[in-house]
Amino acid sequence: MSVIDEGLRANQEYAKAFQLGHLPMPPGRKLAIVACMDARLTVEQVLGLKTGDAHIIRNAGGIATDDAIRSLIISHYLLGTQEFMIINHTDCGMLTFKDDELKAQLQQSTHTTASEPAAFHSFTDIEKNVREQIQKVKSHPWIPGGIPVRGFIYDVRSGKLNEVI
Ligand SMILES: [Zn+2]
Repeated sequence: MSVIDEGLRANQEYAKAFQLGHLPMPPGRKLAIVACMDARLTVEQVLGLKTGDAHIIRNAGGIATDDAIRSLIISHYLLGTQEFMIINHTDCGMLTFKDDELKAQLQQSTHTTASEPAAFHSFTDIEKNVREQIQKVKSHPWIPGGIPVRGFIYDVRSGKLNEVI
């Protein structure tokens, strides 16, 4: 059985016991998070969130890409979130390669070029990366200045979330 089929089987059990069908669309805690997709970072558990509490936007690196910012704008204006968090983490895969090298490797192995993605957003300094994402979100003309945008590094060894000040 494939992992997807295993997931479908697990979903049958999930749906049998499901009791969250009453939840409204806007996040109950009015929180939106941009976090890395790392499999060790279970954002809901790390922050004590429940289904319906927050928008969690995930990608490789927890990067404030155009698409993450698109989601934050929709999250705030259409669904009422009032605080934004950026979450990166220790031992991130984005520290293990360079954009140019990966691009060259892909071009070589596929024998073709591609215009998208324009960047993979690899980085060498987690704190600096978090600061850059905060800055990117805060400086966007459609993100209201009054929204707190705070950044954090999750420690995959200790489970602790440390704020980047
Ligand atoms: Zn990561």
